Amino acid sequence: MSPSAVVWDPALLAYDMGDQHPFNPVRLHLTMRLAAALGVLDDVPLLSPEPAGAKDLYRAHSAEYLEAVQQAPMAGWDVGHGLGTEDNPLFTDMHDAASLVVGSTLLGARCIAEGRAQRAVSIAGGHHHAMQDRAAGFCIYNDCSVAISWLLEQGYDRIAYVDTDVHHGDGVQAAFVGDPRVLTISLHQHPFTLFPGTGYSSEIGAGDGEGRAVNVPLPPHTGDAGWLRAFHAVVPSLLEAFRPQVLVTQCGVDSHREDPLADLSLTVDGHRAIYRELRALAERWAEGRWLAVGGGGYQLMRVVPRSWTHLIATVLDHDVTPDVPLPAEWTDLVRGVAPSAEVPPTMSDGADVGYSPWGDGVDDAVDAAIRDTRRAVFPLHGLDPDDPRD
Ligand SMILES: [Zn+2]
Repeated sequence: MSPSAVVWDPALLAYDMGDQHPFNPVRLHLTMRLAAALGVLDDVPLLSPEPAGAKDLYRAHSAEYLEAVQQAPMAGWDVGHGLGTEDNPLFTDMHDAASLVVGSTLLGARCIAEGRAQRAVSIAGGHHHAMQDRAAGFCIYNDCSVAISWLLEQGYDRIAYVDTDVHHGDGVQAAFVGDPRVLTISLHQHPFTLFPGTGYSSEIGAGDGEGRAVNVPLPPHTGDAGWLRAFHAVVPSLLEAFRPQVLVTQCGVDSHREDPLADLSLTVDGHRAIYRELRALAERWAEGRWLAVGGGGYQLMRVVPRSWTHLIATVLDHDVTPDVPLPAEWTDLVRGVAPSAEVPPTMSDGADVGYSPWGDGVDDAVDAAIRDTRRAVFPLHGLDPDDPRD
């Protein structure tokens, strides 16, 4: 098997919206330090990205918007395009920092397309809310959309994007909504209860791309078992029918029960189970090609570093068992950054990630969501929405 690529450079920490903003780059720093301290990165070269150029940014964004982002820090607060808001504050060199995030995910895509790696991970990426002409939800440039567009240009014509962030992957869905070559699947907290307010099961794409947008809106407080039940009821069948050549996954971890910005109830163990499943699906249905990116996650000390260390480890086939203790050098680092943080003892939340598969006759709110999604899109893929074997 080809080696897996890990894209990282400390320069990515420059995407910094300020100390009071939830999207704090310390989460990336602590993740890489934890992965290193556990030996996950031993003998793994870290690939250093270049900023994406205008030609690649234009794949997902308008020239007018790029100009606005470049001018924004000098122009002041009223620059439009969603910039200079509480969610998307202006910061020095924001164009350069956001371009480097895109470059990071693009480098992962390039490694896969050129056959240098079968899998790649870019934890700094996953800025799935950025729109063609507008910043949104802490995201300035949409690295996911740029990378998928670039992969299409390389000749791939079946790319699946699976978004496990607690928020709807609205920017990526919008970018490819009429394009039959891209299947976007997003599982998220129900839009009635959370930003960005989209991602209903009735959003299925349009025109030639009808059925190629898939949304699974889950009720607040859905935990590991319900989430995994929904995932297994929807995602594997669609990937089997679609047969992607590349699987791109946005792996936001704001679905965790301790996340301060949302209300799903997953655990670090649930996240680990998701990554292992995504890897298996890439192996089975996407010719082994898997590009994994980060995303949301705002429990900066206790959750993000552990979950994304599991992500990196899974991509590298260096799986970390849940009961592994956190190394003292890392917990000391966290206490130096946040003296009052209660650091968990291991790489686990002690959760059981067992779930019962859909179709066992139970009918709760998660099952209603599953049914709505399956009925909305399964027939468009030649699948029977009411047959649990499909
Ligand atoms: Zn999110």
